Parts: sequence; C-alpha cells; structure tokens
Amino acid sequence: MRSISSCLTISLVVTNPLPGTGMNWSPRAYATPYTNQKSLITEALSPGLTQFVYAEEAARASLEAKRLESAMARLTASEKQSLSADEAPSIARSLTQKALLKIAVVGGGIFGVTTAWNLAMLGYGVDLYDPQGIMHGATSRSNLRTHQGYYFPSPETAVTAKAVTERFMSVYGAAVIPFTQHYYGVAHKNVMSLTMAAYKTFLEKMGLPWIDEYPSVFKRGQIPDAIRASECILDAGQLRAIGENMLVSTGVHMIPKKARPEDLSAYDFVVHATYEAINELIEPADQKDLIFEVVEQVVVQLPRLFRNLSLVIFGDAMGAIDPRGSSGLHVLSHRTTMAHYENVGKSPVITDARYRELLRGDWIKSVQDPALTHRRAVISALSEYVDLTGIEYVGSIYALRALGTIALTEAHRPTLVHLLSNGKGSVLLGGKVTTALQAAEQVAKAVQESYHQTPDGRIRDQAA
Ligand SMILES: Cc1cc2nc3c(=O)[nH]c(=O)nc-3n(C[C@H](O)[C@H](O)[C@H](O)COP(=O)(O)OP(=O)(O)OC[C@H]3O[C@@H](n4cnc5c(N)ncnc54)[C@H](O)[C@@H]3O)c2cc1C
Repeated sequence: MRSISSCLTISLVVTNPLPGTGMNWSPRAYATPYTNQKSLITEALSPGLTQFVYAEEAARASLEAKRLESAMARLTASEKQSLSADEAPSIARSLTQKALLKIAVVGGGIFGVTTAWNLAMLGYGVDLYDPQGIMHGATSRSNLRTHQGYYFPSPETAVTAKAVTERFMSVYGAAVIPFTQHYYGVAHKNVMSLTMAAYKTFLEKMGLPWIDEYPSVFKRGQIPDAIRASECILDAGQLRAIGENMLVSTGVHMIPKKARPEDLSAYDFVVHATYEAINELIEPADQKDLIFEVVEQVVVQLPRLFRNLSLVIFGDAMGAIDPRGSSGLHVLSHRTTMAHYENVGKSPVITDARYRELLRGDWIKSVQDPALTHRRAVISALSEYVDLTGIEYVGSIYALRALGTIALTEAHRPTLVHLLSNGKGSVLLGGKVTTALQAAEQVAKAVQESYHQTPDGRIRDQAA
C-alpha cells in the first residue's frame, strides 16, 4: 500500500502557468484590442526585425494584423533579444508566412479548442467553427474523469495516462473540482469478474496510489471492499473559462456557426474535431465506422453525506456517482441502464425525434415522460450498492458517445488521429479528455509535414 496524494495537490503543482486564471500568464498584448499595429510590433520586436517588417512585409501584415501580432507575441524575451538585423528577415518572413497559412478547426470541444490553441501558439492563423460556442458538446456532458487506470483497469490506460496527464494538467488543472474524495468499490459479483486482491495488484504494478478506506455510503453486504484513489474530476464551466482565455490569448478567430463544405474549401488545412459528427464533412473514403450510443446521466441532489464524494462501483455494470462541477449536485451513471440507443455505422441512428431536442441546448433537462427517461432504472440499479435514501431527481443530461470500433475489444478507448487522404486535413476522435494535448501535437506535426518551410522561410505545400 502507498501513501495517497490529493489530486488537487498534483494539479496545483503542475498548473503553472494557468491560462484560465491569468496567473503567470503574460497579459501583454493579449487583452489589447488591435488599434495600433506599429506600436505593438515595435514594442514586441528588436529594431532589426521591426525594420524588416515595415520595409518588406507591412502590407501583408496589415491584412492579417491580429494573427501576425499573435504569432509575434509568442516570441520569448530572449528570442527577441537575440534577434539580429541579419537573421531578422528570415524569421519575419517565416512568421508572416505561417500566420498567413489558414487553418480551420471544426468543433469547439476540448479536442478542437486545444488543437486550435496549439496551432495558434505555433504561429498559424486559425479559425474555430462551432455553432454552440466552446465546450458544449460531449465535453460538458461527460463525467470529466481524468482517467488514470482506476476506472479502466487496463495497462494501456495506465501507460497512456502517465504519458499525458501532467501536460494536460499544466493547461487545464485549474478546472479540477477541489476536495473530491474518490472511492472504488468491488462488488461480490461484478461485470469484470474482478477481485479486490487482483485490483490492488494491478494498481501496485501500474504505480497507481491507493489506500484502504471504506466510504460510509457503500452497502457492505454487496461491496465488501473499497479503496480510496488519487483521481480528478473536472468542472465543465471552468474548462470553458480556461478554453475561452486560451483562444483569446492566441488570437484564434471564433466563428459561431456550423461549418459547411463550402466554408472549408478556402483553407490550407482543416481539422475535424466534431466527435459524433466526425464523418459528416469528410469524403466517403476517409469515413470510418464508429459505435454510437445515446446515454442518460441522471442529475440528483443527495444528502450532505455525499458532499465531495465520487464513487465508482464495479458491480453488475460499471456504475458511478460523481459531483457535477461546484453545483452541489451529483450525476449518476450505470453502464447498462443509462443506454437509450446504440448502433455501429457512419452516423448515429436515433429513431425517436424527441431525443434531438434532449441532446441540444441547455444540458440538464427535467424529463418526466417514462418513455424518454431511464432514471428509475438507473437509481434502482445503483441503490443495490449505495444507500441513496433522501435522493431527489433534478434532471437528466443526454449525451451522444462516439467510440472507435477498436474500443469493442480494447477497454482503454484510445484517441484516434488520422490524416485525410488529400493530405490537407486531420480527423480527430477523442477517447479520453486527457489526451487532448497529445492529439493537438499530432495534428501540428501533420500540418508541418504538409506545409514545410523552405530555407528562405517560405511555406511549401507538400501535396502540390
Ligand atoms: C456520457 C459520457 C461520459 C464520458 N466520460 C468521460 C470521462 O469521464 N473522462 C474522459 O476522459 N472522457 C469521457 N468521455 C469521452 C469524452 O467526453 C470525449 O472524448 C470528449 O469530450 C470529446 O471531445 P471533442 O472535443 O472531440 O467533442 P465535443 O466536446 O463533442 O465537441 C465537438 C463539437 O463539434 C461541434 N460540431 C459538430 N459538427 C460541427 C460543424 N459542422 N461545424 C462546427 N461545429 C460542429 C459540436 O457543436 C461540438 O461542440 C465521456 C463521453 C460521454 C458521452
């Protein structure tokens, strides 16, 4: 057994800088409306580079002034200091050319936002399309657990998590819901035929910390053993605030509309991060079969005893009771009873049109029609394992889940990133939110490989 560190401590250690909070996040130029290009560029650059910009590139720069400003703002103080008049021309040209390369990111969930931000940080000109604004799709409707391997006890999940979590937290760590205590209970009979001894051996092997601690709300008759784990749950509202800051600070241009094929034809590169709509805007040859599910998470008010508790149960199906942001409410999920629709194909098949409304707009819907809600079944399934006396139904969150068909055989649900066959775009299907930065970096590599820079600083289209 190991000692357990709190998730909050981990996130505070690694969240420096915090884009969502303004802490250690250079405010210069980010908040300044672009009113005086000359003074901003002069302030940002060495005399040699400034001279070059005005002598040769000013006309082009003025066309894309905001993007150029953003690209230049990315230079560190030491880079600015070290710029000499000799090297200034090539640096200025490459920055300008990069800023003029137009990239569209379609989808403002955590994967689209992180990718748009990363590309803009690298100096590209980025437009982000989403009719809902940011973090309103699956990202805000999900459990937002930063999976470490406790929930999916597979070596792949634990290994991937080790590689990605620290960097993810350095960007989004401020969204962690503080003071949450995470417990995992293994029921006598469970869907994974897991024993507590085998589970602990797995955690030890993967270096995942735990302590023997039993929450008073579990039913001993069903769950003989439990552990406390070191995990985190994120707050969707905080994620949105951080994401908005990231986009503004890097000059990403938000376009609040549903992208259509004709909108995208003018871009040099298009990133499709639309989750369940991933096949909609791409050629048939690039489309993939996916597993689609409509699921219902039941939002409830629980007695004070549940405050700050996140509970996962390996029972007749995977079950969870998680805090919903800082609302004081909890969401209940139970893998089998929460499912309404499931199909494999290129797009979701939902025969009852009323679900479209439930999947749109405001995410907590108070649904009373028994044909549309499984709340009684979900509450009853979880009551087998947890004392839910005093529970009050608040509403339901309906979400569409999209999984690569690979997930049928692999518990760890990988994130999939593919280059389109025309070489001018990427498709990105998020598996777990903590892989968003890694996926964004893979997309940036694909852009760099498609449009590489020639020695004189020009950007050449590899596909041309
Ligand atoms: C019920 C549920 C629970 C989950 N729990 C967890 C969990 O605990 N931990 C975890 O790591 N992962 C979890 N996941 C998975 C996780 O939510 C997803 O991997 C992740 O949110 C996907 O993010 P995204 O940015 O790809 O998609 P989304 O957040 O869905 O964003 C896609 C966006 O694309 C937009 N869009 C679609 N078409 C267009 C268009 N033509 N033009 C412009 N915009 C468009 C949509 O409006 C949407 O906002 C869960 C998923 C579900 C459904």
